[in-house]
Amino acid sequence: MTAVVLSGRELAAAIRTETAERAAALAAAGTTVKLAVVVATADESSAWYVRSIAKAAAKVGIGCDVVDLGADATPDAIRAALAGLSADGAVHGIILQTPLPAGAVPEELAGAIAFGKDVDGANPLSLGRLAAGLPAFAPATAAAVVAILDHHGIELTGRHVAVVGRSTVVGKPAAHLLLDRNATVTVCHSRTKDLAAITASADVVVAAAGRPGLITAAHVAPGATVIDVGTNPTEDGGLVGDVAADEVAQIAGALTPVPGGVGPVTTALLLHHTTSAATP
Ligand code: NAD
Repeated sequence: MTAVVLSGRELAAAIRTETAERAAALAAAGTTVKLAVVVATADESSAWYVRSIAKAAAKVGIGCDVVDLGADATPDAIRAALAGLSADGAVHGIILQTPLPAGAVPEELAGAIAFGKDVDGANPLSLGRLAAGLPAFAPATAAAVVAILDHHGIELTGRHVAVVGRSTVVGKPAAHLLLDRNATVTVCHSRTKDLAAITASADVVVAAAGRPGLITAAHVAPGATVIDVGTNPTEDGGLVGDVAADEVAQIAGALTPVPGGVGPVTTALLLHHTTSAATP
């Protein structure tokens, strides 16, 4: 058996089409939708990600301002930049790019992002509201996990989902969104004992650990759905996920590819959120 490939590309294209339509309608009504990306790192993969967001934004008619504070920016300078953008009526969405300089805590600083402009769900208020089942922007990656499952018609109600990773940007919010969809969720992390026993008992495995090859065939039940969130750069300039795709594809029922799975949907949703934030 070879797993069905759960591509994210078609879904991302559909989201982009709707986003472009919304941005055009807002422009016709006098609002140019704008996203601001605050950067305080010289990290090359972060720079690559920011360039890809700016390019994707341009394609759907959204402006993207990159506010580069430099790799030695202080927490106060980052907070002030976020507060300034929050007060700027021309900016509709704000993201704080990580990593940040040593001593700067992303979750704390993101509290300075206005809730209504928090399009990547980084403000702890957004995560708290998500946990409480109240409306808020979810981190785009977590939202992309659920969107891909929905797009491919994977049932969640009553099913056991193992989320591998407990970060604020992916694992925790994904767990909340999946709970809201009536899944039975187990959150696994680096201190989890016998990870394989837990994931192999799940109907759906969401791998978000940032560890290439972590999820092997032994971690997956026959016929299970595997969502690979991992994006790990390889030495030859490529990208691999957290799933040992060749062997897992022999046992899983369905598997997202890397690249071309969660990644494109994440970027598309981030921009979609930005048009929502700009909509009166
Ligand atoms: P993180 O480093 O903040 O968190 C990793 C989590 O994985 C931690 O909670 C840790 O406990 C857990 N973990 C680490 N090793 C483990 C192990 N051996 N067994 C079980 N759990 C383990 O990372 P993150 O920001 O949550 O990102 C996770 C991955 O998702 C990375 O590869 C990142 O590049 C990727 N990512 C992808 C997108 C996208 O759009 N596709 C967006 C954000 C992050």
